[in-house]
Amino acid sequence: MARPSILVTGGLGFIGSHTAVCLHEAGYEPILLDNLSNSNRSALDGISSLMGYTPTFIEGDVCDPDLLRRLFEEHNIEATIHFAAFKAVGESIAEPLKYYQNNMGGLMSLLEVMKETGKNKVVFSSSCTVYGEPDQVPVTESSPTKEAESPYGATKQMGERVLRDMQWAEVQCLRYFNPIGAHPSAAIGELPLGVPNNLIPYLTQTVAGIRQELTVFGGDYDTPDGTCIRDYIHVMDLAEAHVVSLKRLLENQAQERFEVFNIGTGDGYSVLDVINTFEKVNGLPVPHRIGERRDGDVIQVWADTSRVNSVLGWKTQRGLEDMLRDAWRWQQRIASQ
Ligand code: NAD
Ligand code: UDP
Repeated sequence: MARPSILVTGGLGFIGSHTAVCLHEAGYEPILLDNLSNSNRSALDGISSLMGYTPTFIEGDVCDPDLLRRLFEEHNIEATIHFAAFKAVGESIAEPLKYYQNNMGGLMSLLEVMKETGKNKVVFSSSCTVYGEPDQVPVTESSPTKEAESPYGATKQMGERVLRDMQWAEVQCLRYFNPIGAHPSAAIGELPLGVPNNLIPYLTQTVAGIRQELTVFGGDYDTPDGTCIRDYIHVMDLAEAHVVSLKRLLENQAQERFEVFNIGTGDGYSVLDVINTFEKVNGLPVPHRIGERRDGDVIQVWADTSRVNSVLGWKTQRGLEDMLRDAWRWQQRIASQ
């Protein structure tokens, strides 16, 4: 029997590439769409080496409904996993129009074509950013969402709202916490363009000698060690969550038309915990200093995962040590190229 074709928008990106490999392993055929605005064609080589063949890749824009029409028809798309979006919070404040156009425009054209073709199943990349600075941790899916601090965050909140309003669509809305790490083979990983904004690529580039020193943004927060706390999740666990969620859609097991899940580990780690764990598992020092707070940083957030554990039957398999070991292996691999 033919493998069901799944459109993966943003399929050469960090999370999309790992998900593509997991989809293949689970018996699906990923059809990858990416305009390479934040990724590199080399990701396709990594994906292909893991899959044993080169999957269909279309270089193109999810904001182009004609292209999507063609893809849905030619590949008999059963469902979509919609990753394609811009994601840099700071850039979104500087260039909000770019973010609204791409993130909302992409979702709109996808929905237009899904509606036309009757292929109404979609998994949407949302984010724990919708919770803002929570009043209570851990956050559950029914914790209040807060007004978004950035246009990027607003596109995730609006995306959720738009999808909730599409009465004809079947939606799995996954709120990711902090995805890090890489495929354990180091064939694929995160390829940040320019100076990284995120902790892990900045940290691994510092250890690799590309950056001088990691600045810890703030050491005087009201947390046990004074630094911010996040729920870091291995990108392979996150990729696997997409497969479980997609299966639920395809097998018509969802109890509601629009379902939301927190995708995290349920554990919070501080910035200093991350540094110390990296040093321990990789046996290398992380040059760092405590600096000023970064504007807009949430002090602490981690997931209550009871809903996703019980309803989806999914939970993470990998811990912080695995994440940081794999992140370093990936950094060494890209440094050697
Ligand atoms: P990424 O930038 O690595 O991947 C996104 C991919 O989408 C890139 O390859 C980019 O080239 C592509 N893309 C962007 N706009 C496009 C367009 N108009 N048409 C076609 N392709 C387009 O990012 P990621 O970390 O893999 O994130 C994937 C999704 O998860 C995004 O929606 C992001 O907002 C969301 N998310 C990410 C994180 C995180 O920390 N990485 C956290 C929460 C949510
Ligand atoms: N962080 C840091 N130094 C950096 C980058 C990030 O101390 O160079 C901290 C940041 O303040 C936050 C955590 O690391 O507490 C995770 O930040 P990241 O940008 O990776 O993800 P965010 O949680 O902001 O989406």
